[in-house]
Amino acid sequence: MVTVDVILPLAIADTYTYSVPDGMTCPEVGKRVLVPLAKKTITGLVYRTSLQNADATVAGKTIQIRDIIEVLDEQPIVLPSQLVLWRWIADYYLCTIGEVMAAALPARLLDNDYTARTEVYISLHEQYMDIEQLQPVFDSLKRAPKQRRLLEQFLELSDAFDGTPHSVEQRQLIELSGESTAVLRTLIEKNILQAAHEVVSRIPSYDAETEDAHPLNEQQQRAAQEIEAGFTEGKVCLLHGVTSSGKTEVYIHLIREQLAQGKQVLYLVPEIALTTQLTDRLKKVFGKQLGVYHSRFSDMERVEIYKDLLTSQEPKVILSARSGVFLPFSRLGLIIVDEEHDSSFKQQDPSPRYHARSVAAMMAREAHAAMLLGTATPAIETYHNALTGKYRLIEMKERYAGLSLPHISLIDLKRQYHRKEMYEHFSDPLVERINEQLAQGKQIIIFQNRRGYAPYIGCRTCGYVPKCCNCDVSLTYHKRTNSLVCHYCGYTIAVPKSCTACGGEWRDFGVGTEKIEDEVNGLFPTARVARMDLDTTRNKNSHQRIINAFAKHEVDILIGTQMVTKGLHFNDVSLVAVLNADSMMQSPDFRSYERAFQMLEQVAGRAGRTGSQGEVVIQTFQPDNALYTYLQRHDYATLYASQIKERKMFRFPPYYRLILLTLKHRDLSRLDTASRELSERLQAAFGNRCSGVIVPPVSRVQNMHIRTIRLRIEAQASFAQAKQLLMQQVAYVRSLPTCKGTIIQPDVDPM
Ligand code: ADP
Ligand code: ZN
Repeated sequence: MVTVDVILPLAIADTYTYSVPDGMTCPEVGKRVLVPLAKKTITGLVYRTSLQNADATVAGKTIQIRDIIEVLDEQPIVLPSQLVLWRWIADYYLCTIGEVMAAALPARLLDNDYTARTEVYISLHEQYMDIEQLQPVFDSLKRAPKQRRLLEQFLELSDAFDGTPHSVEQRQLIELSGESTAVLRTLIEKNILQAAHEVVSRIPSYDAETEDAHPLNEQQQRAAQEIEAGFTEGKVCLLHGVTSSGKTEVYIHLIREQLAQGKQVLYLVPEIALTTQLTDRLKKVFGKQLGVYHSRFSDMERVEIYKDLLTSQEPKVILSARSGVFLPFSRLGLIIVDEEHDSSFKQQDPSPRYHARSVAAMMAREAHAAMLLGTATPAIETYHNALTGKYRLIEMKERYAGLSLPHISLIDLKRQYHRKEMYEHFSDPLVERINEQLAQGKQIIIFQNRRGYAPYIGCRTCGYVPKCCNCDVSLTYHKRTNSLVCHYCGYTIAVPKSCTACGGEWRDFGVGTEKIEDEVNGLFPTARVARMDLDTTRNKNSHQRIINAFAKHEVDILIGTQMVTKGLHFNDVSLVAVLNADSMMQSPDFRSYERAFQMLEQVAGRAGRTGSQGEVVIQTFQPDNALYTYLQRHDYATLYASQIKERKMFRFPPYYRLILLTLKHRDLSRLDTASRELSERLQAAFGNRCSGVIVPPVSRVQNMHIRTIRLRIEAQASFAQAKQLLMQQVAYVRSLPTCKGTIIQPDVDPM
């Protein structure tokens, strides 16, 4: 009997075996099939074909293999190379290949309910193949000026006078002629014109003329040459270039070379950096060869890009956020990961908790493609690879066109508060600097990494603080909507009139972007102010609208969270202010220092990108912190040296690999039993590589209690073996009746 192993989008088993019924040709690997599962039917993907006995044994029990119901595709929709990658992701990130499939395929493709979009197109009726024959028609329309005008408009649009007449979109014809559809219908009834549905793409096409890329300057040319040399050696390259050194132009140059060889390129950027600023630049150079794959696109649009890549033989560059690694490339020549340090390349939830940079590296290796990482502030792990020779390091230390890097000055908040030289959260010198810039018609970015009005409110009398009823966190005060919002689960209530515990008055604590906006409006009443954070960018195009307004200088001061740090280019920004940088370093995470540096260097990089030197003002309670010295000198190398020492001393990556296990349960005592059980078993197997049970800072989210266990494995040790050992223990604990219902989620290389 012929059987096939099918991937189903489930987290239970890895693959499921079905038989091919008599009379059905065995479906090829990569095609979708409809199969029964318990009492349902479900779409899966053929992973493997094999010959088997009629029955299979699963965990000692004989189960009957059931038949495939239907084969859904004429051609495979997933390439063998993709399946190799899915397998790798599932094994590396400890999940089923079905979970990878669910993340990899646009939902519509999986459900098989994709429908092509059609439009009505108008063409000449067949009897008028030769347009000379139209003369009598025009004569006959002498008394029907509307029909005549519509026909003339049609002939013009269809190129009838210059070449073979092609069909014209009905909508366009009606719009341009100004005539009604009734008039058009008459012409169709007279068999002069005819209408037909044609399949059209949902992807906006780019037909305008393309222009040449900018010629590279000397620094860029040298970088491009070194990168190509690195590729020839088969090495991953790291382009470490300061902000505004012109990395994008180097990418463009390298992409062009690949396309000229008929290759495909994957260009990965953090989700939020996928702005029209970047796509417009790339469209100008690559025109139709550019494809954009975006989570903000509808699923239908994503299916079209997927299918286009699957079937088209044209060279292509795909610009995408992390999920671009799942697209069906068959002639991949190069992968670029821009802003490679960015943590949004790591998927947190749901599984697979993959890092697009690691997946891309695997993908490039399998496809014998080149790989380039680019950033002004490399991840410590990446830079380590570059210094140890695993990657080739290419540096660009100068900004493009001889601009200077921004000047960074510090304001000591302790001193300012002590001298009472503060207006709310703005120190007097900062207010002065902002006023100066405004007077010169310059723009200012104010960075405050917390949204809402205040992180929490409390009662003046009894100190009561409202908390989320589902999570173990206090509610954030949003003044604009007069609500209290949980930033973990979204739970929202109106602000109670007075303290629900004692009837006392509320006061707010801490500061978020909304409050800063109020303060800015009070301090600079004539300035035009905009705010960019999660709350102002929920609608489809609002992020873009704020960026455009700021780029057109319709806004003087932009207040924002880390959203404003990513890859944006504004001409008139002369000053960037960071209201309080300390909180970023206070988190207990071993990456907090590195992250603070990256974020500050990136936000600083928005200043002075044209014209004179930009300025950055940082307010801090710890002006002596070494981090600021590195930042003021734009000295990444010393930051790296200090961090890598700590990483070694405290057993963190790149010297150790981490796996974080998150355990969840509604019932706290069950959770405690399960986490203790697992922790003890892991300690027995791994010794002090296992952390023991950790109660995380937020230990309940959406009514699920949470515990974590961290494993650290020496970089030289076999990671695969360690994972196998780990999963045996996880499986055992999952099977214990006392631990029933505990969710255990492994996160490999957690961020
Ligand atoms: P980065 O990605 O390193 O931050 P960009 O590539 O965005 O820097 O370049 C910064 C600015 O300099 C952009 O406005 C870009 O158009 C301009 N630029 C960079 N290289 C060139 C070049 N070779 N010719 C003309 N303009 C350039
Ligand atoms: Zn909540």
